[in-house]
Amino acid sequence: MLQDPVDKKFLIEEYIKPNTTDPKIIQAFLNIPREEFVPPEQKDQVYLNIALPIGEGQTISQPSLVAQMTQLLGLTGYEKVLEIGTGSGYQAAILSQLAKDIYSIELLPQLAEIAKQTLNRLGYKNVHVFTGNGKQGLDEYAPYDAIIVTAAAKEIPQALVDQLKDGGRLVIPVGKDFDQNLKLGIKKGGQLEITDIEPVVFVPLK
Ligand code: SAH
Repeated sequence: MLQDPVDKKFLIEEYIKPNTTDPKIIQAFLNIPREEFVPPEQKDQVYLNIALPIGEGQTISQPSLVAQMTQLLGLTGYEKVLEIGTGSGYQAAILSQLAKDIYSIELLPQLAEIAKQTLNRLGYKNVHVFTGNGKQGLDEYAPYDAIIVTAAAKEIPQALVDQLKDGGRLVIPVGKDFDQNLKLGIKKGGQLEITDIEPVVFVPLK
């Protein structure tokens, strides 16, 4: 089904603008076609503020949460960002508009492959997708200015703290099942200073 562009405007007014003060983030949501990142049977729901299934038991996050997590990263356009949990590639595509280079790791090869194809087809050349276990980060391109994890970790993986620059930001849901909290960590003198943001529900980081 063809998307009604009015739906996208509604989504942005109601769910994106309340979660960010950054006009560049709002523009990124206008630019990125979410309908390209979901299976065909989900396309008519794509401008609702809900998570949607993308196959392999995984989901694309709800847009308001993508906006909020993006805002927490505090990007200015020059950063090297690491994402754990590529999924559909949608969050990475949003980040591609807001930072210099995005490195994104996905555990499941099938999802990584689809995300790569989508991102290539749409021409987001500064997103680099890798298959692997994101708990170990991606040492090859470290250190990162910002790291975003889009699956819930039982605890914050030390490798991610190690691969973050001093002054860098880590946004990560921590916890299990329905007892998860979104956290913002800012690295200072080798340690994370952590702020609890709000309860969230993500698929588990495996
Ligand atoms: N950011 C995604 C949503 C991700 S859902 C989007 O915009 O669509 C979480 C993803 O994390 C799933 O695709 C899941 O397969 C992946 N994942 C789970 N554990 C992981 C791990 N240890 N390393 C890398 N990816 C992982």
